[in-house]
Amino acid sequence: MANLPPYLFAEIDRKKEAKVAQGIDVISLGIGDPDQPTPDHIVDAMAKAIRNPANHRYPSYPGAKRYREACAQWMQNRFGVDVDADTEVLALIGSKEGIAHLFPAFVDVGDYTLVPGCGYPVYHTGGILVGGISHFMPMTEQNDFLADFESTPEDVLARAKMMFISYPNNPTSAIATTDYFESAIAFAREHDLLLIHDNAYSEIGFDGYRPPSILELPGARDVAIELFSCSKAYNMTGWRVAFATGNADAIKALATVKSNIDSGIFTAVQDAAIEAMLGPQDVVAGISDIYQRRRDLVIDALDAIGMKARKPKGTIYVWAHVPEGYDSAGFATKVLEEANVIVAPGNAYGPSGEGYIRISLATPDDRLAEAIERIKNTL
Ligand SMILES: *Cc1c(COP(=O)(O)O)cnc(C)c1O
Repeated sequence: MANLPPYLFAEIDRKKEAKVAQGIDVISLGIGDPDQPTPDHIVDAMAKAIRNPANHRYPSYPGAKRYREACAQWMQNRFGVDVDADTEVLALIGSKEGIAHLFPAFVDVGDYTLVPGCGYPVYHTGGILVGGISHFMPMTEQNDFLADFESTPEDVLARAKMMFISYPNNPTSAIATTDYFESAIAFAREHDLLLIHDNAYSEIGFDGYRPPSILELPGARDVAIELFSCSKAYNMTGWRVAFATGNADAIKALATVKSNIDSGIFTAVQDAAIEAMLGPQDVVAGISDIYQRRRDLVIDALDAIGMKARKPKGTIYVWAHVPEGYDSAGFATKVLEEANVIVAPGNAYGPSGEGYIRISLATPDDRLAEAIERIKNTL
């Protein structure tokens, strides 16, 4: 417990609570949780599924066969990738759960995990909870925020078991090239690592960009698994439903850990997720359109006030440089104190995040516009 990093939002949360108690209108751009509701046809499928008494009993550990088959069908429809529903697909209670449970499967005390220099916190904290050690792979603007595994020292590699990557990326909103995925696969093969590609934003692409699956690449499933989630794709963060797919040995190991800890996902939720994945997919484009519009609004507004940010091709975040003279926490604190706006300090996601803030697009347009206007007035 003592080794877990302090919760970097704790200070911000405390200041926010104090302001809200005074009746101040605080706008939060800090949260990566879609503001839009789950599409109706998915909610309707749940309403029906909850009336099915067979769904009231314990769920299947690896996921209902019909759910795993739907995941496999979705992989085929979406990426043209063939996966075996019995051996290469595993239901997860959200991908966060899957990430955390990979550690007891693969990491012994003192083993290393290669973790993105800034990324989803569980890649790091999941290791701490089993006595593992994180090696943060540098991510810089010069290397397009592609985590640099090549620079990992030999002594670390000798005790490394897993490597996490995730593109489109939270928090930097960077996307990966095919070359990058190919070299990550080759690197994992060379150093006997399990490669985990967290594809949480596979459905959130802009300007016609559709993020790929790493499993489209030759040899990927020899070394890799990929995590997909209904959370961001279908506005279903509260439902807790996702899946892992790829290397059968890794899937089996993760399934073994899970069967000793949890008892699966409520089967009615799996039925709703089947509707999400195999029902009308036009909702996906509709969701991306909303974020793309907000991205444009934020990029234009930041540009107008002289804050630098790359225009993202995906995710629900804009990753912006803090102005001259600030660090991430200092700027986030200033913006909260003077503008009553919460932004996420980049260093909360790891060492490569210093010097940046993350702005979430999961905020209604008018609130986003007002938040940027307020930030402008403080500068
Ligand atoms: C949101 C997010 C997740 C969590 O997904 P769940 O399926 O809701 O657990 C995982 N990885 C990244 C990078 C995320 O941003």
